Order: sequence, then C-alpha cells, then structure tokens
Amino acid sequence: MSVTANKETLLNYISGQWHRSTAAEQLEVHNPATAEVIASVPLSSRAEVDRAVQAALAAFPGWRNTPVVDRVQPLFRLKVLLEDNIEELARTITMEAGKTYQESIGEMRRGIENVEVACGMPSLIQGYNNEDIARGIDEQMIRQPLGVVAAITPFNFPGMIPLWFLPYATASGNCFILKPSEKVPLTTQLLYRLLEQAGLPSGVVGLVNGGKETVDSLLEHPGVRAISFVGSTPVAKYVYRNATANGKRAQCQGGAKNPAVVLPNADMEMSTQILADSAFGCAGQRCLATSVAITVGEAHDEFRARIVADATERKVGYGLDEGVAMGPVITDESRNRIEGLVDKGVSEGARLLVDGRGREVDGFRNGYFVHPTVLEEVDPRGEIAKTEIFGPVLSMMRAETIDDAIELVNGRAFGNQACLFTNSGSAARQFRHRVRAGNIGINLGVAAPMAFFPFSGWNESFFGDLHAQGRHGVEFYTETKVVVERWPKEWARTF
Ligand code: NAD
Repeated sequence: MSVTANKETLLNYISGQWHRSTAAEQLEVHNPATAEVIASVPLSSRAEVDRAVQAALAAFPGWRNTPVVDRVQPLFRLKVLLEDNIEELARTITMEAGKTYQESIGEMRRGIENVEVACGMPSLIQGYNNEDIARGIDEQMIRQPLGVVAAITPFNFPGMIPLWFLPYATASGNCFILKPSEKVPLTTQLLYRLLEQAGLPSGVVGLVNGGKETVDSLLEHPGVRAISFVGSTPVAKYVYRNATANGKRAQCQGGAKNPAVVLPNADMEMSTQILADSAFGCAGQRCLATSVAITVGEAHDEFRARIVADATERKVGYGLDEGVAMGPVITDESRNRIEGLVDKGVSEGARLLVDGRGREVDGFRNGYFVHPTVLEEVDPRGEIAKTEIFGPVLSMMRAETIDDAIELVNGRAFGNQACLFTNSGSAARQFRHRVRAGNIGINLGVAAPMAFFPFSGWNESFFGDLHAQGRHGVEFYTETKVVVERWPKEWARTF
C-alpha cells in the first residue's frame, strides 16, 4: 500500500468509495525538506460536501441501531491495521509535515491510543438511573448519537489529530466526515485506506479534501450536527462563531504560546534537556511546544548556558535521515513569518543568543529550514512575547520570585499549557492551583493528556465546553435523554 510517491491528485472518500473531485482548483502539496511537489489536493466544492453529508445521513439510521458492542469491532481491527502500517504512516507524516521519523512514530502512537480508548465505548457511553425517584417511578439517563458530525484538522499532526475525533464519534453511533489540512493530505489517504479495510459500513466515515470553501460548506450544511476543529486561534474563533450560529455543537481548539517556569531548585540538566525538546522538537510546531522560558532568580545563568549549547548542537535536517533531531517548518511562507517575528523581537530589544535564521542544510538547499533560535531579555509586553510563532524559537524572560513568574504566565491570552521545573512539591502545588492554563506540566515539557483525559486548552486556546478525547469526546458526540417511567404494579395482573 503506498500513496506517497506519486504526484496524482488526491481523492475524496464518500459512500465507501474513492472519488476524484470535480474541484476547479487544486493546491500543490510539498515535501518541506526538499520543496518538491509530492501531490496535489483538490479544493472540494459545496456540492461535494453535500454529497458526503447525504451519504452520511443515509448511513446514520443503520449505524445508530447497530449495538455498541458491534460498532467497536471495526475499531479493534483499525488498531491492528494502524500498528501493522505504522512505519509507512510515519514515513508519510515525515514526508509531508517535516518532523523526524521518530516524532512521526510517536505521533501515531498517541493516535492509536485514542482508538484503544474508544474501543471501550460500551462502558463509556453508559448512562445512569434511579429506581423510585417517587413511589413507583423510575428515572434513567441514556446517551444517543447526534447524527452526522465533522472534523476540520491542522497540518502539524496529520496522523494523530483526526484520531482525537473519529474513533469516539463513530463508536458512539455517529457518522463522521473529515476535512484534513490541505498542507498534509497524504497521511489521511492512508488512514482512510485502513478504515476501508477495518470494515465500517459504507457512509459511516467520509473524507472531503479542501480549504476554506469546503469548511464553510460544512459549517453551513443543515445535515451536520457538530463540528470539531483544531487550528490557529483566528480560524478557531471563526469556526466556533459560524458553527454555533448555525445551531451546531462546536469544540474548537486554537493556538498557543506556552510558558515554562524554571526555579533555582530544579534539576537543571534534566530541565534543560526536556525544555529543549519541547521548544525545538517538531521544529516548534506543536501546540504544546514551550515558546517562553521564565527563569526565576539564579536559575538563569545555568539554564541559559545549557539551552544555548543544546540549540547550537541540535542536528537539523531531513526527518527520514539517521541522527536528525529536528526537521523543517511546514512552508516557505511559515519560515518567512518566523524569521520576521525574530527580527521583530530584536527590534523590541531582545538579545539573540542563538540565531537560526537564514541557514541552509547540506543537501537540502531548497528546504524550509529554520534552525533553533534563542532570545533573551524578551519584553513581556512586546509583540514577540504575545504572538504564536509556531517555529523553533525560545524566548527567555526573568522573574525574581515564583509569584512574579506566575503573574507573567497568567498575563497571557492563551491557555493551552504551562510547565514548572522544580524539586519543591509546595511550589508545584501553588503553580497547579493558580496558573490559568488547561494542561499543566510539572517537570514535563509537553504535558499532552493521555487519550483517556481531556485535552484541556483554556482561554484563547479553546472555544467550547467539551474538549477532545476520552469522556469529553463521548459527551460531545452524544445527547442525553432522560426517561421518567411509571409502571403501576396492578398492570402486571393483566397478563
Ligand atoms: P489553520 O488555522 O491555518 O488551519 C486549520 C484548518 O482550518 C485547516 O484544515 C484549514 O484548511 C482550515 N482553514 C484555514 N483557514 C481557514 C479559513 N479562513 N476559513 C475556514 N477554514 C480555514 O492552522 P494550521 O496552520 O494548519 O495549524 C497550526 C495551528 O494549529 C497553530 O496555531 C497551532 O497552535 C494549532 N494547533 C492547536 C492544537 C490544540 O490542541 N489547541 C493542536 C494542534 C495545532
């Protein structure tokens, strides 16, 4: 099975069949390490979205009435298929998204975890009940699927993020449509080839490639009951506003600007290593990447020396090559934006300790590379301190006390993640209690919740009520129905 080498136009998947899109417009998909065109992706039209929704609506009654124990069987098969094909999936992720092969394997592992958790749907979907809420009257709550639901996903985790949604949506009895990022559509083609083998009935899962018009068609389609979105904050807000205005449920995960606080009593070697992996891993293109390091008191000097050494020595290159620790960023446009923000930081008074701009990688002159970059004395009020850079750039700030550091953390608009490095349980407890962010790491740099916990972004990083993954996913994709029943015992005598 391979879809990685050809440059053909990618396909949509509707009614259990692969379709060539009739879209007038197509976009080129590039390998960001080489700038080579590896495929082209259609920008599917409103009519094609309608076809996918109609197919899903037609499949819904049969799927909803399939017992939940049977609905999870294709997911058990999908788990095995994903494991068996993990190497090809990882190579494809690296080719289109740029991260290293090991990072791509790690991404798939987190995706598979969600399939495993959703296999527990017979328990997860259970309601609750009371006998005799009044004399002879019982009450129960049951969960029922919504109908047709859709997800719109970003470029940075093409294998994992669709799996934050698809397994929960389908196992709970919904029909699901995916609109993947047009920058990384190849991994999804592989995923859907595996879904085809997993044996879901036709129409239960659909795939429509495209861009803004495709998204708008999903947001406006009366047949779609709920929208899951992951991407940048401006688009998350737009999707949330429009989905809810059209009467749909929405969960929209946005951008981030994640701080990490380093106290003087932290294990400095371990902390720096973890923070360097957080800031520069996946070329800084993780929504849980640390982009601001706040050192408290005398933590500064040792942290500064160690992070500079790591940033300088980190091997940058093609993610499929041995020994490479960091790949390119996603596009040329992205590289220019990142470098422009570093310029801005310097003009705002920050000092460049490691400059990753304008550097080529041997053998990959055309690739979209930015090397690790470290800035210090970044002004917390400046643009670079507030803007999501989404590249391998770490900004350093200083604080006198943990209280000052927490104030800096809470002064920001985003709330995806905040981390603390310390050997003090008391400091950790204060931090956990007071910090306004939804995912907290203590001596961890990427506090990614396991699939059985919600992915808990806050503030400008999330719009909605119920997050992705685990029980939140089940609640998001189901409606509660409460039934109150009276069955007088005299009626038993009529038999
Ligand atoms: P993006 O917002 O550009 O695109 C995300 C999706 O929205 C894509 O499918 C795209 O086709 C669609 N889209 C883009 N512009 C649109 C518009 N104007 N109208 C309708 N749809 C539109 O995001 P990206 O660059 O692909 O991904 C990176 C962003 O995602 C970063 O901001 C990152 O922090 C964020 N992200 C957040 C999380 C999280 O869990 N909070 C996880 C991963 C990525």
